[in-house]
Amino acid sequence: MDLLEYQGKQLFARHGLNVSPGHAARTVEEAVAASEELGYPVVVKAQVLIGGRGKAGGVQLAADSAQVREHAQNILGMDIRGHTVHTLWIERASDIAAEYYAAVLLDRSAKKPLLMFSVEGGVEIEQVARESPQKLVRHHIDALDGLSREEALEVARQGGADADVVEGVAGAFTALYEVWQDEDATLAEINPLIVTPEREVRALDAKVSLDGNALYRHPENAALSDAENEDPIERRASEQGIQYVKLDGDIGILGNGAGLVMSTLDVVAQAGGAPANFLDAGGGADAEKIKQAVELILANDAVKAVLFNIFGGITRGDEVARGLIAAFTDAPPPVPFVVRLDGTNDVEGRRLLTEAALPNVYPAATMNEAAEKVVALAAGARV
Ligand code: GDP
Ligand code: MN
Repeated sequence: MDLLEYQGKQLFARHGLNVSPGHAARTVEEAVAASEELGYPVVVKAQVLIGGRGKAGGVQLAADSAQVREHAQNILGMDIRGHTVHTLWIERASDIAAEYYAAVLLDRSAKKPLLMFSVEGGVEIEQVARESPQKLVRHHIDALDGLSREEALEVARQGGADADVVEGVAGAFTALYEVWQDEDATLAEINPLIVTPEREVRALDAKVSLDGNALYRHPENAALSDAENEDPIERRASEQGIQYVKLDGDIGILGNGAGLVMSTLDVVAQAGGAPANFLDAGGGADAEKIKQAVELILANDAVKAVLFNIFGGITRGDEVARGLIAAFTDAPPPVPFVVRLDGTNDVEGRRLLTEAALPNVYPAATMNEAAEKVVALAAGARV
C-alpha cells in the first residue's frame, strides 16, 4: 500500500526524522488558512501516488496568500500522469544547501534490507544509478542485528556527506530504518533529504510503501488507505476478493492461480502483446466469480481483447464456461475473448461454450495459440 507524501512524513515524524511543519488541504480556502498559520513562504504540493510532481508543476513555492491561492487553484484537480490531485500538502518552505537521497527497501534477491544513499539527490535516482553508480552507496543491513550507529556513520561518510552533517545524516538513516522495520514498510525513500543552510538534515519528500499483508498489525496505518487515490478497479477487485493488478497494456488477462496468470502474461508479451492487467480468479472460481472478473477486466477502457486462460484443477471447466455464458448472455462481449480451457471438466466446458455460440468468443487449444490469437485480435486483425 503506497502512502501519500504527507502520510509518509507523519510516519517519519513519529520515528524522529525531521520534517517541515505543514497541513493537508482539500480546498483553496483550506490551503490559504494553512499557509496563514504556518507563515510564509510555503510550498504547495500535489498529493498523488506518483513521483515527478515537481517537473509536472505540482510543487510550487508561494510567498504570500495570493500566490497560495493561485497555485492551489492550479494544482487542485490537476492531472499528473493519470493521477488527479484531490489533496494538497502545504508546508513551511525550506532553504536548501544540499539535496541528498536516502532509502531503505527490501532487497528480495539478497533477502535483506538495503540502505541506499547518495549525495546526488533531488534528481531521479535511476539516473544516478545508471550514469554514476559509484555515487550511490548500497549497504545491506542484517535484519537481526539492525543498523548500528557505526554502520550508519560509515555509509554517510562513504557516500560523501559533508563532514559537519555526517552525524545528522546517519541519524536520518537510523530513523528511516526504524520506519521501515517498525511500520512493516517495503520501501521508505527520501528524495531529497536536504541539508539546510543552518546544517539541519530534513526529509523534504517521502515515498513509503507499506506491506499490505502486515496491515493487521498497524490498524492506524490501515486507516491511511486512500480510497480516492487508489485505482478504482483495483479497489473494487479487492472488495470482491479478486487478485487484480492494473497494467499498462491493452490485452485483458484472466486465469486461475497466480503462477498460471504470470506465465500467461509472459506468453502474451512473447507474442508481442502488452497485458492490461493481472487477474487471478483463484482456485475453485465459480460462475459468479468469473462474471465479476469479466466485469472488472472490461472496466478498463484500454482493453481491446481478452485472454482467458483456465487450467481446471479445483476450478471446473464447466463452471468457468457457465460464468462466461452468464456474463455474456445479457450483454455480448464488446471486445474479442480468446478462451483456452483445459483440465478438469474441460470437454464439458468446451461443449457448453460451443453450444452457446457466443458472438466474439474464440476458442484456442493451447496457451501459445491463444496468446497469438489475442495479440492479433487486439491489433484489429480478423482470425
Ligand atoms: P517530486 O517532484 O514528486 O519528487 O516532489 P518533491 O517533494 O521531491 O519536490 C520536488 C522539488 O521541489 C525538490 O527536489 C526541491 O528541489 C523542490 N522543493 C520542494 N520543497 C521545497 C522547499 O521547501 N524549498 C525549496 N526551495 N524547494 C523545494
Ligand atoms: Mn521527490
